[in-house]
Amino acid sequence: MTTVHRYDAVIVGAGGAGLRAALEVARVTPRVAVVSKLYPIRSHTGTAQGGIGAALGNMEEDHWEWHMFDTVKGSDYLADQDAVELMCQEAITCVYELEHWGLPFDRTPDGKIAQRRFGGHTRNFGEAPVRRACHAADRTGHMILQTLYQQCIKHEVTFFNEFHVLDLLLEDNVCRGVVALSLADGELHLFHAKAVLFATGGFGRMYKVTSNARSLTGDGVAIALRRGIPLEDMEFFQFHPTGIYKLGILISEAARGEGGVLRNRQGERFMERYAPTLLDLAPRDIISRCMYTEIREGRGIDGKDYLHLDLTHLGREVIEKKLPDITDFARTYLGIDPVREPIPVQPTAHYAMGGIPTDVRGRVILDEKNTPVLGFYAAGECACVSVHGANRLGTNSLVDILVFGKLAGRDMAEYIRGADFAPLPKDADGPAREECERLLTSNGSESVARLRETLQREMMDKASVFRTQEGLEAMLTTLKELKDRYRRVRLQDKGKIFNTDLQEALELGYLLDLAEVTVVSALARRESRGAHYREDFPKRNDAEWLKHTLAYRINGEFELRYKPVVITRFQPVERKY
Ligand SMILES: Cc1cc2nc3c(=O)[nH]c(=O)nc-3n(C[C@H](O)[C@H](O)[C@H](O)COP(=O)(O)OP(=O)(O)OC[C@H]3O[C@@H](n4cnc5c(N)ncnc54)[C@H](O)[C@@H]3O)c2cc1C
Repeated sequence: MTTVHRYDAVIVGAGGAGLRAALEVARVTPRVAVVSKLYPIRSHTGTAQGGIGAALGNMEEDHWEWHMFDTVKGSDYLADQDAVELMCQEAITCVYELEHWGLPFDRTPDGKIAQRRFGGHTRNFGEAPVRRACHAADRTGHMILQTLYQQCIKHEVTFFNEFHVLDLLLEDNVCRGVVALSLADGELHLFHAKAVLFATGGFGRMYKVTSNARSLTGDGVAIALRRGIPLEDMEFFQFHPTGIYKLGILISEAARGEGGVLRNRQGERFMERYAPTLLDLAPRDIISRCMYTEIREGRGIDGKDYLHLDLTHLGREVIEKKLPDITDFARTYLGIDPVREPIPVQPTAHYAMGGIPTDVRGRVILDEKNTPVLGFYAAGECACVSVHGANRLGTNSLVDILVFGKLAGRDMAEYIRGADFAPLPKDADGPAREECERLLTSNGSESVARLRETLQREMMDKASVFRTQEGLEAMLTTLKELKDRYRRVRLQDKGKIFNTDLQEALELGYLLDLAEVTVVSALARRESRGAHYREDFPKRNDAEWLKHTLAYRINGEFELRYKPVVITRFQPVERKY
C-alpha cells in the first residue's frame, strides 16, 4: 500500500543545490522534506575537488565583473548574461556564508580564504590568469556538503534517505508532489506538496569514460521530460581534459592551477601552440579538443589515446599538501607517484550544461516566453538557468548550486506562503507502480548491464568531443534499437528489499531518454560552439545559432524550439586565449 506524506515543500536531491535550497525554505516552514536516493553526504557534490569561484580578491586584485566576463566568454557567449551577472555578484556572499557556517577553507598567511588559479579565470578581461578559486585542499565539495548538511540538521529539515523518486505529479501546469520508491522495502510513497524542487544532479553516466559516479543518471531531468517539460541546451556536454586514463576518475584542474602542465609523446607542452596566453589553463572545451587533436595526429603517449599531466616539477610538498586526494588516486588506481612520474590522462565526460530550464528564481519554465510551471523548481546540475551556456568554467558549478539553490529556495518559501495544496491527480502512483511491475515481471532476455555498456560505448564514439551528422544519425538508430531492447530487459532480482537490479533498470531508462534528446539537439545544431563541436560545421555561427534549444517530447516524437540568449554587457566576439 502506498504511504502518503504531506509537506509544504519537497526537495528531491541532497547534494549542494538541494541542501542549500532546503536551508532557505526551513526559515519559513518546518514542513520541508529532502528526498534522496543516496545518503545525503554521499551525493556527488562531495567529490568536487578544486574550488569554488568568487571574486574575493584575497590574493590579487579581482572583481565580479571580471568573473562575469570570463563566464560569458567561457560559455562561448551562449550563457544568459543577466543570470551570470547575478551569479558572480552573489558568489561572494555565498562563500562568506559557508565560511561563517564553519567551512574549513585553506588560508592565506594573514588568515583570509586562500584562492588558486583555474581554467578560463582571468584578470582585467582576459589579460592573465587570476587566483579566484576558494578551496579546502582538493576536497572543497566534501567540505561544502558536510557544512550544508550540518546546517540542515540544525534547522531540523526532515530527510527521506534512500528514497528513489520515480514520478512528478503535475496537472494543469500546477505541481502537486512526487512518487518515490523506498529502497529498503520496495514500497511506494506519495509526497503531496505545495511545491517541489528537483536538484538531482547530472548524467555523465551516458558516456563510457566519465568522472561521474554510478548514481549520476539524470533521473530528475528525464522525469521532467516525460512530464512534458522541455529540456534546454542538451547538446552541450562537457568533457574535462584530465580524467585518469581508461578510468575517467577526475584529476582536478587545481593540478594545473598549481602549475601542472600537459605534455605529448615528445614531452612538448603542446598548449603553447593552441592557447599562448592561458596555456594549460584555457577552458575545458578547448583543451579537450586540443588533446584529441594531438592524439589523432599521432602525438599521444606511445601512439596511444592518452597524454601526460606532469606535476613532477612542483615538488613533493606542494603535491602532497595542496593536492592530497588526487595524489592518492594516482597512487591507488595507477600505481604511479605523481611526485616522480607524469599521470596518464584523457578527456572524461564531466558536466551537463543543459537540463531543466529555469528562470533566475529557480522556477521551471515551460516555453520560450518563460511561462513558469506553478510550484515546480529546479537547481544545480540538473537545471539550466543558463549560466554556463555552451561550456562551463571550472569552479562555477559550486557557485551555481549555492547561488541558485539559495534563490530557488527563497522563491519557493515565498510561493508556499501564498499557495494551498492542489489536489492529487487520480491514481497518482499508478504510472510509477506500473513501470516497476513491468520491469519486475518482464520475462525478456536482455540484460541491463549489456544495454548500458553499449549505450556508453556508442555515445563515447559518436556523440562526445567530436561529432558529425553521420555519427549522430547512426547514434539515433542505435538508440532506437536500444530502447526497443530495453522493453525486453529481464531482472535477476525480483524481490523488494534493496533491489538494485530494479534501480539500475530504472536508471538505464532515464539515460536512454537523455542520450536521445542530446543527440537530437546536437544533430539539429549545425555549428560548433563550446563543448558542441561539429566536424562538418567547424565554425560558430551567431547569425543562425546564437539561441537556446528547447527540446520537447510529444507522443514519443521530439519537437525543437528555440529562445534568444540574453545579452547585456558583452557582445559576442571570437574566443581567443
Ligand atoms: C569529480 C568531480 C569534481 C568536481 N569538482 C568541481 C569543482 O572543483 N568545482 C566546481 O564548481 N564543480 C566541480 N564539479 C561539479 C560539481 O561538483 C557538480 O556539478 C555539483 O556538485 C552538482 O551538485 P547538485 O547538487 O546539482 O547534484 P549532486 O551533488 O550530484 O546531488 C544529486 C542528488 O540528487 C539525488 N537524486 C538523484 N536522482 C534521484 C532520484 N531519482 N530520487 C531521489 N534522489 C535523487 C542524489 O541522491 C543526490 O543527493 C565536480 C564534479 C565531479 C564529478
